[in-house]
Amino acid sequence: MSDNLFETFAARMHDRGDATFIATREGRHYSYREALAHTSRIAGALHALGVRPGDRVAVQVDKSPETILLYLACLRLGGVYLPLNTGYTAEEIRYFLGDAEPALFVCRPEDLEAAQRVAEETGCPQVATLGTQADGSLLAQAEQATPFETIEPRDANDLAAILYTSGTTGRSKGAMLTHRNLASNAASLVEAWRFSESDRLIHALPIFHTHGLFVACNVILMAGASMLFLPRFDVDTIIEELPNGTTMMGVPTFYTRLLQDDRLTRELTANMRLFTSGSAPLTAETHQAFEQRTGHAILERYGMTETNMNTSNPYDGDRIAGTVGTPLPGVEIRITDRETHEPVAQGEIGMLEVRGPNVFIGYWRMPEKTREELLDDGFFITGDLAMVDERGYVHIVGRDKDLVISGGYNVYPKEVEQVIDEIDGVVESAVIGVPHPDFGEGVTAVVVREPGAEIDEAQVLNSLSGHLAKYKQPKRVFFADSLPRNTMGKVQKNQLRQQYEDTYA
Ligand code: ATP
Ligand code: MG
Repeated sequence: MSDNLFETFAARMHDRGDATFIATREGRHYSYREALAHTSRIAGALHALGVRPGDRVAVQVDKSPETILLYLACLRLGGVYLPLNTGYTAEEIRYFLGDAEPALFVCRPEDLEAAQRVAEETGCPQVATLGTQADGSLLAQAEQATPFETIEPRDANDLAAILYTSGTTGRSKGAMLTHRNLASNAASLVEAWRFSESDRLIHALPIFHTHGLFVACNVILMAGASMLFLPRFDVDTIIEELPNGTTMMGVPTFYTRLLQDDRLTRELTANMRLFTSGSAPLTAETHQAFEQRTGHAILERYGMTETNMNTSNPYDGDRIAGTVGTPLPGVEIRITDRETHEPVAQGEIGMLEVRGPNVFIGYWRMPEKTREELLDDGFFITGDLAMVDERGYVHIVGRDKDLVISGGYNVYPKEVEQVIDEIDGVVESAVIGVPHPDFGEGVTAVVVREPGAEIDEAQVLNSLSGHLAKYKQPKRVFFADSLPRNTMGKVQKNQLRQQYEDTYA
């Protein structure tokens, strides 16, 4: 047996036989046995299209069970799976295809013409299509092709996937993930979160990020559990499906939106054993409100494209609101000074660095960036600022790039946001730094008010004065109808900084 991650999956799929692996609300479903057979047929099609071990397979398609079969087929054949955000335009795809140089680009049937043009311009030799109704040329070809029955031997350090980061702080970077990275993390999570064959995951996340793809699908495959594949998060659908599920993995907005619905109750979630949250900070208020309403303490964890999951709140034991728990087994963390890179004292805020079998091997074709962030001793500089409390729980304070330095003082946006969010009439806020002639950066708040709330700038500023040191208080407060967020619920502070860049000019 080689270190190809698919070996582990295939053994599990074989054992699970007729048990359901993946199903849709429309009634399409694959047993483990069927899914396994499909992976060899699709791998046969990939082979016929010229994909060879080590080749990248770029995929930009709408979510469907067959996309996961394609991912598995790609692993089986020793290919490198490279999913792309479904929101990317042809222009953006040109960049990614040019960067990744895939052997094949799988696109939506309706995008075929544009995809062929971009493929031609970037030298990508093959294009195939995959639709959400099990339609498209790839599956048609899989029916005709000679099945690829073997599993291509892979080394633990061979690439299994390249995943582009979310692009929250700049242009997305391709993180090179190995078979070991994915296998070790999936095994840790199955254990940590007690996944078993009897689990049924409600899957409403996109599958081009690490959360919906690896955290969710690899865990389900390794546990031999099943999942309900939903095209997107929709409150009505989730409410209908909660009684039939045992677990849901979500981003914080899933939970804030469910909480707005009165149908979310203890009874409705009685069959569920676990709700997890990640990709963006879950506020302590949401955590508490969800527990009050349903009796379930959301289990928050922390990870990133480059590292898979690093820390998790415990399954048994205290799930502490506002923290991301402790390092997963095998993962080491350290907190260092953002300038000197020396470890800081326990309880101090600094740069979070991680090391372990989960950490990627570098950015695709960015050797310099890789050298800057992946240190010689194996630690990866996450770019997140954090603090470890007395109990060893990690608190993510914010991104280093979002830190505001005003008059030489560090201002951690989250600290200011938490105080603003407490004010009556405020829903949420984002604190950013924008250029200021005297202070370097001026602390600036963008606030979302509750409908009908009349609170104004002066009132916000007044209510902060007793609670925050002067240098942390915003110099200006602006109001917005909502904060700009991407599909994972991450606040796009870059956008806000741009929008307010001339505030103090
Ligand atoms: P880019 O690196 O391209 O700017 P990104 O960092 O948003 O984008 P991802 O790898 O998808 O891309 O996201 C990882 C980041 O998400 C982490 O570095 C962290 O800032 C944030 N994150 C993930 N989980 C949590 C969490 N539980 N609490 C707070 N932040 C989290
Ligand atoms: Mg990042």
